[in-house]
Amino acid sequence: MMTRSQQLFEAAQKVLPGGVNSPVRACRAVGTYPRFLEKGLGSRVWDADGQEYIDLICSWGPLILGHCNQTVETAVTEAVKKGLSFGAPTAVEVEMAELVCQMTGVEMVRMVNSGTEAVMSALRLARGATGRSKIIKFAGCYHGHSDSMLVKAGSGALTGGAPDSAGVPAEMAGDTLTAEYNDLDSVLRLLEANPEQVAAVIVEPVAANMGVVPPQPGFLQGLRTLCDRFGSLLIFDEVITGFRLAPGGAQAYFGVRADLVTYGKIIGGGMPVGAYGGSRRLMEHVAPLGPVYQAGTLSGNPVAMAAGLAQLKILNSTPAIYAELERRGAMLQEGLQDALRAVPAQVNRVGSLLTVFFTQQPVTTYAQARSSDLERFKQWYNGLLQRGIYAAPSQFEAMFLSAVHTDQETERIIQAAREIF
Ligand SMILES: *Cc1c(COP(=O)(O)O)cnc(C)c1O
Repeated sequence: MMTRSQQLFEAAQKVLPGGVNSPVRACRAVGTYPRFLEKGLGSRVWDADGQEYIDLICSWGPLILGHCNQTVETAVTEAVKKGLSFGAPTAVEVEMAELVCQMTGVEMVRMVNSGTEAVMSALRLARGATGRSKIIKFAGCYHGHSDSMLVKAGSGALTGGAPDSAGVPAEMAGDTLTAEYNDLDSVLRLLEANPEQVAAVIVEPVAANMGVVPPQPGFLQGLRTLCDRFGSLLIFDEVITGFRLAPGGAQAYFGVRADLVTYGKIIGGGMPVGAYGGSRRLMEHVAPLGPVYQAGTLSGNPVAMAAGLAQLKILNSTPAIYAELERRGAMLQEGLQDALRAVPAQVNRVGSLLTVFFTQQPVTTYAQARSSDLERFKQWYNGLLQRGIYAAPSQFEAMFLSAVHTDQETERIIQAAREIF
């Protein structure tokens, strides 16, 4: 007999490509069908068949306070009563922008509707401000699905085994140069080979879309130095790390300032929000102040802003959240590393972001991430699912801990690891 999720998936496949609205959700890499989720509360989700899971996806990061946080929920319902959208300035946007600037150290910010849009806009700004057209990105880093970023991309593009997308004109991809993550020489070579042509170097300060790969000591500082030397802008794509590693994101966590920063995921509290920001000098290139055009009918939407603002206020006023995320993250990492002794496994972690790679060698590069045993990952994923643990259905994604996961749940995940292998 088919489960309700299987029935829904059959119906979905007739009207949605692959039955989903974002490819990784289809669960193709792990040989199963997607569980259709019905509700969430705190650290748990329930699927359409009434199965309960510990949620290690948390909407791919946004829900750092868990599902249905009361304060966020109240802020949203209050905003809804006043109207869903105006396409005009509202007070909540100002408060939101002030808080984002205060937390992150950017001087000005523009709200958009997704991480993809934030990156696309930041790249346009970098090109507009420098008068240069080339961009350096890193193989295995994912920056959303805009044309110029679908070159050696991570996340779903990696899982699908087709890192480059059809439909991206060669001339778009031609301005995107690819370096190796954690390899400063590879960046230096590209900068030297393209003198005064590179507008920006864009990086996930913690690579989290090839699985979690931390920056090696000196890597981010080295990028800062190289960008200054060659007159290129440094863009931190903090769509995952922003407000997760620290209130000030990776910039604060690693003590390295970027010229432009992109946000998404956590910034919307579960609603579709992205943002990009930087110094006043750079942001003044954006329309209507400057010649770099960028707009959005629903940008700064009052309901989305209410959700994001409520979540950011809690994060900004509760430093204990970050200490707890670090402690529980370390507990899970150590527990898993020990529980997985029977198989070659590396548990990579930065803060509350973790990935188990099934490989013998430490994973510090994209090539090492790709050496992971994907059959073993499949076994891991399905073993977790059977034990009521809902993790990302791909080797090349992160586990996301929230502030409401408990030590007891952490123990349950570690126990599951002992049982699976
Ligand atoms: C998720 C992600 C994006 C894209 O954000 P969307 O909201 O999915 O468009 C961009 N960059 C990074 C680092 C991401 O993890």
